[in-house]
Amino acid sequence: MNLFQQLCKKHNIDFYDADIDPSFTKDMGKDHWTNYSSSCFDEIRLGFYDDKDIKNISFFHEFGHCRVPKVWSKYTFDYFAKSYMNRFYDEIYAWRYAILFTKKLNIDFKKETIKWARGELATYFNQCAWASDNRIKITQEMENEMYKLALLI
Ligand SMILES: [Zn+2]
Repeated sequence: MNLFQQLCKKHNIDFYDADIDPSFTKDMGKDHWTNYSSSCFDEIRLGFYDDKDIKNISFFHEFGHCRVPKVWSKYTFDYFAKSYMNRFYDEIYAWRYAILFTKKLNIDFKKETIKWARGELATYFNQCAWASDNRIKITQEMENEMYKLALLI
């Protein structure tokens, strides 16, 4: 059992790794699942990655989604639809969890990997309700604050 499998087993998370068994990727196809993962409640689907470091940080991010129960347990699809802001905070806290947790395990990530993670988080900036309604313009300074909160610095 590898580390990811051990962690998921310990926390009752169903874990699917495309490199081990790609059968879950058949519906959406390999392209969809390349450099992409998902998690839902107590399930993680880790896709195919070009870069091992990015695969690792992606796992811990999805693991973070499953391990931040106070936010996640309130997560219904209705809630999802109503509040991009909550979705946005889920993203921040999943990254934050990933960074704190991997620090404890002495797992480091390359600078470029952290940069990639910032880019992933940034894709959610514009989905937050206030930004998508143009009620606020997200400045570089605000972006930096969000990266700091997510510990992606
Ligand atoms: Zn996420």
